[in-house]
Amino acid sequence: TGEDAPLELTDGFHLLIDALKLNDINTIYNVPGIPITDLGRYAQAQGMRVISFRHEQHAGYAASVAGFLTKKPGVCMTVSAPGFMNGLTALANATTNCWPMILISGSSEREIVDLAQGDYEEMDQLAMARPFCKAAYRLTYAEDIGIAVARAIRSAVSGRPGGVYLDIPGAMLGQTMDAAKGAQSLVKVIDPAPRQTPAPGAIARAISVMKEARRPLIVIGKGAAYDQSDDVVRELVEKSGYPFLPMSMAKGLLPDTHPQCAAAARSLALKDSDVVIMLGARINWLLSHGKGKQWGEPGGKKFIQIDIDAEEMDSNVEIAAPLVGDVGSCARALIDAMENEGIAPPEAWLDQVHSKATVNMEKMASRLQNNSNPMDYHSALGVLKQVINEQPDTILVNEGANTLDLARSIINVHKPRHRIDVGTWGVMGIGMGAAIAASIETGKRVLAVEGDSAFGFCGMEVETICRYKLPICVVVFNNNGIYRGDGENWGGGDDPATTSFVPDSRYDMMMEAFGGVGVWVKTPDALRQAVNAALASGKPTLVNAAIDPAAGKESGNIGNLNPQSVVAQA
Ligand code: ADP
Ligand code: MG
Repeated sequence: TGEDAPLELTDGFHLLIDALKLNDINTIYNVPGIPITDLGRYAQAQGMRVISFRHEQHAGYAASVAGFLTKKPGVCMTVSAPGFMNGLTALANATTNCWPMILISGSSEREIVDLAQGDYEEMDQLAMARPFCKAAYRLTYAEDIGIAVARAIRSAVSGRPGGVYLDIPGAMLGQTMDAAKGAQSLVKVIDPAPRQTPAPGAIARAISVMKEARRPLIVIGKGAAYDQSDDVVRELVEKSGYPFLPMSMAKGLLPDTHPQCAAAARSLALKDSDVVIMLGARINWLLSHGKGKQWGEPGGKKFIQIDIDAEEMDSNVEIAAPLVGDVGSCARALIDAMENEGIAPPEAWLDQVHSKATVNMEKMASRLQNNSNPMDYHSALGVLKQVINEQPDTILVNEGANTLDLARSIINVHKPRHRIDVGTWGVMGIGMGAAIAASIETGKRVLAVEGDSAFGFCGMEVETICRYKLPICVVVFNNNGIYRGDGENWGGGDDPATTSFVPDSRYDMMMEAFGGVGVWVKTPDALRQAVNAALASGKPTLVNAAIDPAAGKESGNIGNLNPQSVVAQA
């Protein structure tokens, strides 16, 4: 090129898109608005998939679930201040669940924000984001985009995965630089989440604990599902012969129908086991912190814990053999070290677990076949269980109270990462974002089983489902309320109970409003027909399933977490 040839320019918009694409991030979950509207348009123009939501929280949940499913950070883009704060809930949820996600948010003019001079959507977003994520960065110059995106990706996926915040002031997006220099400034992250194997001594310690075990158990958590070392996990379970208990989002890592699955004998397995291998699962509230009567005699357990995060060890109880590393490497090392150590399947214990599970499953089976009208949870879930058994490739999304607790134990999952639910926080409203991400990231059919309350937090996203023509079937368990639909106003006035909704709400008509299929069903047969039709056609469908308002209980299985008023009961 001659001296007078015009310089070819790039800018912040294009560098950011190029930096993401260079690192194999090809999807953005966003809500457009100032200052990121054009960013979404350019991303689409550059071949990225841009999925635009109606509310940032659901775009954020979708990004976090994309992170869980793919081991790459899911990217959510939001506008400044209020949009940013809507996305922040999802960022915090991603961090809590150990899922990699990057929230990229536009922000207002730095010099005005920092002097608190009252800019459009003024907020010190970087400071706000910090407590809710693993790392937070702000870009001031377009030439730093490459390194900033690299840092964001590595922070999100290395060690214990989590949420990362990247602040992009609107003015930065418009900064220009020489295109060739811009290209050179980009960074491709090499080995973003290095594999990590524990030292031989740590493995030997774990083996010696295993050799003492008479009634061992493996608890598999969503950290193991995330790791995608499915074959190694299966090998560890089958070589050891130990019964295993999947946490809810680890269901399907090995099929729930596996002969060693102890899910239907959960209480017995937790109480009577003597050695427990935790495989990418925290001993948090979901496991009663490893204490109390659920866990049997105090001090009667030895834990071997496999976790990528060293600080997780001893968080609640003593860990006899900590194995710090990724699930795949640790499980592999354990399998190799087990050879010739005489670690035999504990047949008597396995039989004990198995026969308890069989009795419990038989008890449940009859309840699933009732034909009550209106339906109760069991009759409706019996149908959905059968649907998933017949179409195990369907990804199940699940939230609610009773809808969650009962579906978790009733519906078998047959494949890894085919169940997405409320996660560590038990958050309501994750359903539509999760369903959309599952569909976008895998191309599979999705069945979202939603309590009517949970659906209310994210229902508007059915428009998003229709707009992108996603093969998602939403089933709303409509019992007219939160927990139950027969609540009363304790003050006796005309206002409805704080926990009730408009009776017989036509959620199916919401889906129809946007061109999808809506069906109102009142019997198990009608439910089966509607869901099968939806999965066959792949059309966006909402099945409004009438459930007895008197079925279900307060807070589902976690009613014990409600504080009690001594004064009111006196
Ligand atoms: P669950 O809710 O299923 O019990 P948790 O979210 O409580 O699962 O625990 C997941 C654990 O897995 C976290 O402590 C996290 O640090 C860990 N983890 C995440 N990714 C990996 C990995 N690749 N290898 C090992 N541990 C991991
Ligand atoms: Mg309800």
